[in-house]
Amino acid sequence: MSEETQKSAYRVLARKYRPSNFDDLIGHEAMVRTLSNALDSGRLAHAFVLTGTRGIGKTTTARIIARGLNCIGEDGNGGPTVHPCGVCDNCKAIAEDRHQDVLEMDAASRTGVDDIRELIDGVRYLPINARYKIYIIDEVHMLSKNAFNALLKTLEEPPEHVKFIFATTEIRKIPITVLSRCQRFDLKRVDADTLKDYFSKIAEKENASVDEDALALIARAAEGSVRDGLSLLDQAIAHGDGTVTAEQARDMLGLADRTRMLDLLEFIFAGNVAEALGILRNQYDRGADPVVIIQDLLELTHWLTTIKVTPDSASTAALGSSDIERAGAMAGKLNMPVLARAWQMLLKGLEEVRQAPMAIAAAEMVLIRLAFASDLPSPEDLAKKIESSNSSEHSISGGTISTPSGGTSARAGTNGVSAALAVSNPTPHQKAEANNAPRRICQSYLIARLKISQPNNQISL
Ligand SMILES: [Zn+2]
Repeated sequence: MSEETQKSAYRVLARKYRPSNFDDLIGHEAMVRTLSNALDSGRLAHAFVLTGTRGIGKTTTARIIARGLNCIGEDGNGGPTVHPCGVCDNCKAIAEDRHQDVLEMDAASRTGVDDIRELIDGVRYLPINARYKIYIIDEVHMLSKNAFNALLKTLEEPPEHVKFIFATTEIRKIPITVLSRCQRFDLKRVDADTLKDYFSKIAEKENASVDEDALALIARAAEGSVRDGLSLLDQAIAHGDGTVTAEQARDMLGLADRTRMLDLLEFIFAGNVAEALGILRNQYDRGADPVVIIQDLLELTHWLTTIKVTPDSASTAALGSSDIERAGAMAGKLNMPVLARAWQMLLKGLEEVRQAPMAIAAAEMVLIRLAFASDLPSPEDLAKKIESSNSSEHSISGGTISTPSGGTSARAGTNGVSAALAVSNPTPHQKAEANNAPRRICQSYLIARLKISQPNNQISL
């Protein structure tokens, strides 16, 4: 084949590697097992409903099921199978969308009762040259109420030679009367690790050299969809002219550098606003979307929080091993209230960045707020600080925390607030410290709060 014809025959990866049998279909093992059991035991449903988000492979799966049901094997004597041969007339015709007994309809554009009537009018006739007459209805939830009713009549008493395969992104919009007559398969998103392995194999077949990190980025951006991921891989290979580095993939995806995001988070938690804003600007100038940056920070914060609770989860994130180590150390130093607060602030910030007329300005404001908030000690730290300062100064004990009834300080309990306010009854020593009064009231209040919320926590004053 000359170079010219090779070029003109180019097919996008998503089409070229569209699975034609269940073995090629990745991430849907449970469904294949159920289907295979049903075939083996001869308990095949009359109707199937495939559900899952867009790009997950519903119509592809529907076609593979259709092939499996109608495959006659290489020798022409085979029965329904989960391993369609791919060479018999039925398999070939279905793959090429030209089988007379496999009828596809997109309910998104044909929602009316007449459309359904027209489609199922032929239900009573036997298939022309296949085992089953198969109706594939995509986006079936778009059908009108009357259309569903018309369909239901056939579903209630389907002829032996008819099978329905429905695909939908919104299973809850399908009437329960219809659903109850279908075998349901939930197509799950494919996890990033599986996608990465798969894309790596495709890249190899395409003779493209794609960095491991670049593959991980593409797998993550695909959000569980093989098709979306393949389109991105296609784009990346074209973009990089055969070799794809992590940096190229990041540029293409409008992503920020994950390692730099970790730096950014570290500066924020250290309260270093100038450095944090510097990184933000730098990433923005390189094409990273402020919304994506805040999303990344959210994801990292969530990840740091989970590795604090379950250290084993560290390896699941799309980061290099050195970053994982660093993040582990970071999570060890940060305490839970700080992480929880950061999560909340970022979540709120994300909304602001999305709505702001200048997303980058809004993102800067979010980071500034976060960095300043990171300076605030958590209630526990505050209590510890006060505790240590008390043991050296002896100024709060007695005077401030003692209750009006003369109870001892350890019994501050619910009287904490009023007890704290008792500081306005000045002793000579307290007069000298008058400037500190508001601070002390605040401290005492916090201790009281802490004592109420954590009665078992021994805080001696
Ligand atoms: Zn076949």
